[in-house]
Amino acid sequence: MKRRLKIVIIGAGLGGVATAIELKRHGFDDVTILEKSPSAGGTWFHNTYPGAACDVPSQLYSFSYAQRRDWPSVCSPQPDILDYLNEVIDEHRLAPLIETGTTVTACNWSDAGARWTVSTADGRSWEADAVIVATGQLHKPAVPRIPGLQTFAGHTFHSAQWDHDYDMRGKRVAVVGTGASAVQFVPEVAQVAEHVDVFQRTGNWFLPRENRPYPGWFKAIIKYVPGVQPFRRRFWFNYCEALTAAIRHPKTFGRVLGLRSWIFMRRQLRDPEVRRKAWPHYTFGCKRVLFSSAYLPTLQEPHVDLITDPIERIAPEGVVTGDGSVHEADCIVYGTGFRTTDFMFPMDVTGREGQDLRETWTDGAFAHLGIAVPGFPSLFIVYGPNTNTSGGSIILYEEAQAGYIRQALERVRDSGAAALEVRHDVWAEADREVQSRFQGTAWTQCDSWYRDDQGRIVTNWPGYMREYVEATSRVDMSEYDLVPLPERVPA
Ligand code: NAP
Repeated sequence: MKRRLKIVIIGAGLGGVATAIELKRHGFDDVTILEKSPSAGGTWFHNTYPGAACDVPSQLYSFSYAQRRDWPSVCSPQPDILDYLNEVIDEHRLAPLIETGTTVTACNWSDAGARWTVSTADGRSWEADAVIVATGQLHKPAVPRIPGLQTFAGHTFHSAQWDHDYDMRGKRVAVVGTGASAVQFVPEVAQVAEHVDVFQRTGNWFLPRENRPYPGWFKAIIKYVPGVQPFRRRFWFNYCEALTAAIRHPKTFGRVLGLRSWIFMRRQLRDPEVRRKAWPHYTFGCKRVLFSSAYLPTLQEPHVDLITDPIERIAPEGVVTGDGSVHEADCIVYGTGFRTTDFMFPMDVTGREGQDLRETWTDGAFAHLGIAVPGFPSLFIVYGPNTNTSGGSIILYEEAQAGYIRQALERVRDSGAAALEVRHDVWAEADREVQSRFQGTAWTQCDSWYRDDQGRIVTNWPGYMREYVEATSRVDMSEYDLVPLPERVPA
């Protein structure tokens, strides 16, 4: 008889949900999802800032097995994405598996029991044959260490913890950071605030994103004409792969797409002073290319200032820049991103022979295919190291990971083993290969949130979506060792 595996998934965001669906569909019926928040949704539950949306077209930013023909526009706003995810959770009857309000503090492997114990902040624990860490890369808000931060007398919050009770009408708002989140909320804030100061450390490359609601006739075509939806999904897939080509080949494709961005920005930035300040000075595609047709015009509105003098400190009355100016503010919003390279930490993860995952990753986080680490049997990571995409849909990666993990667990189940563990030499060789594939790409040509403290690129996959899907399509058992079940002590 096949062994019934107990599986714990950490995180009920897109990755955790994708994995639970895959496991459930293939007969794994003892799955628990532990979620620290009061509700499922992950990044789409937390990021509710005005204008929050995905800049990846919804036809692609959705599960392959849960396609919708009624998206309101190319790129969906956050409430639609969260609704979609909750619908998928309902369709697959996942809700009973999810334990919300449950923060995992530790995952410990027992050599004697050949099992994991997953402990949570409220003192409970779960025994598991396999643990799937689906906490993602973008869930811990990063607030910069700026001197005087705590002395600010006004209101303040991070973009991922938006205070919707705070009324910005008639207020002076300072925004620190100009990444993918800020370019979405700055145009919205500027519509209500009396004055907005935008503090930029580095300029960005932009491409257009109009995102008008689809007209009725177009919606009808998508809904009723067979083949249109899959065609659009393929189209956006190839479009995103082209963006990756531009990043991988900065001297050829990168120049072409970079020129497209240059022309767009030149047209949008009519004010020479704002243009000078906003212009990026690094290779196109090195940092995430931003999609917005609303942000750069907003910077040129009379009540909006783009400030590029470095922030020196925060004072009770506002932000003080290096030139000595005090920029008074009623509210400071930190659009300063996430602690991307922390992965699942501060969670305590100990594997075989008490091995600490932090120590394994002293020289930089790495997992084979972003999923498996030697010394940590049947511990799988979803959206782990080197699986982020700068041009593509993370859902495609997560579905691929879910399929790979399911196959790995089928091997464990069918072989009667306790667990499986990636071989150290396979992991080390894969690490070398991934890092070598960054050579010559745009990613290496500036500093970004893709790098850890040592400068190593630990978040991104160095290739195309199709390569990742291919690489994870089949578990090669020659890359793994099976961990035997412990011998039962006679009663
Ligand atoms: P982000 O891209 O990491 O941007 C953070 C911003 O804060 C950057 O402009 C950064 O400047 C600035 N910053 C950080 N520390 C600072 C400091 N000490 N002083 C001044 N400025 C500072 O964060 P995000 O905008 O929240 O986006 C994070 C990721 O989430 C995105 O890259 C994307 O993958 C995802 N996201 C996706 C969408 C979507 O539509 N798909 C939307 C939002 C977010 P530097 O550039 O100089 O570091």
